[in-house]
Amino acid sequence: MREVYIHKGLRQVVFRDCFSTTTPNSRRAGYGRSFRSERCFSGNFAINKPYLNDKLTSGMHQFLRVCLFGLLAVVLTMSRLSTPPEVRGRELPAPAFDVVITNARIVDGSGNPWFRADVGIRDGRIVRVGRINPGAGKKVIDAKDQILAPGFIDVHTHVESIYSQPAAENFIRMGVTSLVTGNCGTSATEVAEFLARAKQQPIGVNLATLIAHGSVRRKVTGLVDRDPTPDEMRSMEALVEQGMKDGAVGLSTGLIYVPGTFAKTDEIVSLARVVARYGGIYSTHMRSEGETVVDAIRESIQIGEKAGLPVEISHFKIANKKLWGQSPVTIGLVREARARGLMVTVDQYAYTASSTSLDSRMPGWLRAGGLEEGKKRLSDKVTRDRVVSEMKDGLKRSGFKDYSYAMVANYGADKSFNGKSIAEVTQLVRGKKDVNSQIEQIISMYETGGAAMVYHGMSEDDVQRIMREPFTMIASDSGVREIDESVPHPRGYGNNVRVLGHYVRELRLLPLEDAIRKMTSLPAQTFGFRDRGMVREGFAADLVIFDEKTIADRATFAKPHQFPVGISYVLVNGELVFADGQMTGARPGVALRGAGSSQEKQLFAALQN
Ligand SMILES: [Zn+2]
Repeated sequence: MREVYIHKGLRQVVFRDCFSTTTPNSRRAGYGRSFRSERCFSGNFAINKPYLNDKLTSGMHQFLRVCLFGLLAVVLTMSRLSTPPEVRGRELPAPAFDVVITNARIVDGSGNPWFRADVGIRDGRIVRVGRINPGAGKKVIDAKDQILAPGFIDVHTHVESIYSQPAAENFIRMGVTSLVTGNCGTSATEVAEFLARAKQQPIGVNLATLIAHGSVRRKVTGLVDRDPTPDEMRSMEALVEQGMKDGAVGLSTGLIYVPGTFAKTDEIVSLARVVARYGGIYSTHMRSEGETVVDAIRESIQIGEKAGLPVEISHFKIANKKLWGQSPVTIGLVREARARGLMVTVDQYAYTASSTSLDSRMPGWLRAGGLEEGKKRLSDKVTRDRVVSEMKDGLKRSGFKDYSYAMVANYGADKSFNGKSIAEVTQLVRGKKDVNSQIEQIISMYETGGAAMVYHGMSEDDVQRIMREPFTMIASDSGVREIDESVPHPRGYGNNVRVLGHYVRELRLLPLEDAIRKMTSLPAQTFGFRDRGMVREGFAADLVIFDEKTIADRATFAKPHQFPVGISYVLVNGELVFADGQMTGARPGVALRGAGSSQEKQLFAALQN
């Protein structure tokens, strides 16, 4: 086929033709205007992007221009006619793109309004955003006027087990293509090995990790409730440094968990200083998200300012009923720190319930040394009474009248508890559900191995106020889900989609483009993924195509194992991992390494040369 287009209105000239003989690839075509030939492959000649150096003002210029174009068209036609049909057939050019996506409305991740363009992908990269002839793609995806966005980047996950569930189906099906794990103070301590496995045991998503304070401390001092000795401190710093060199993107803490909760601020500052030298971030599950949340935010900011590194506050929330409505105060602290010049960002899941361990409701001192130590302490009547009274006190201060806000997600010792509240379980087991009985029930569940819980502890107003802040990212706090295993928090199946369906479309809380920005370019910018999170030429082809009119989460607290609807395609590094309602089985995920890693530095140096 020969096509010659002259778009005067657009000041574009497009010739498209096939030749059996070599046609000179003219990079300039007369009259003070240069034409860039974008793609010239054997037998094909295409000029499709004029660069206007000056404006044609005279009628003479206009006349000569028309003559020139006419002449070119005649030359192309003659050349074409002189070629026998069978030769033309044999010499069709190879497609220039592995995948071409047509008819898309692109929300590019920047926050800018959507625009129409086609996207060409080659070798896992976006190589063209603009007009593309579908014939130039080995594979063509018709987006059918749906939204094309960068694949979502979830910066707060717990997927240390990803190599046993490499498809990461729950993430892919909500459009998430890159994960940051190692959050809340727990990570692999052998970062190099952890990330390198992505090559040997391919995974469906891209994977980055933080190096976690809790895991490092545990390795050096065990689970003890004391300060590290100077020697131990040096060992911890060395482990963190190695983690950063091996590709961690930053340091995480979990200051309500054992052993993180035993660390004083200075200990964390020392480790954060190491991370700062390697360009990493400090990502924290703070010491409190309830009664003392304000102090906890101040501590996080102080660590960032003292150590000189950006701060990411994980799953930003107010989980104390008495403090509901106080999010302007907590957001205000972040805004003030930013105004002083500290990079502080936060992430959030789109629900009013959180999820963590049952023992997070119990005193830290009881949990020191681990479960066996804790059980020993509880066998002493006086200690047990003290635990009960501290828990009762804590419950009172949290503003909840009992533990009916606490639902069992997974109790290993008796799966029939899953999906029931502590109040319901207590009634079932003990025939009564007064607060003392509920506390005794929690203690006995702790003694038999503990449980994963869902806590309905936030207000919708606070969730919405936090979501609207420009520095808030959308992150799930989820692991890789196993279908129908226990009754986990629905965020692992619905988080991103819930934002797009419920908060953007139904509540109009924020524009679609802004919601996408919070899932793409903002996390990429914050965690240093330089070539992801945008639909831009040169960027990795992590992409999601969805219908913004129907996209919706289906997972509920009662029935969490439900995939969302409205997502049509998900691509990771240019390969389709989800299409036509099904996982494709492809595992194109790669490890994403932080700026401090030796591998990343080599790559960067190579790019600069
Ligand atoms: Zn956490």
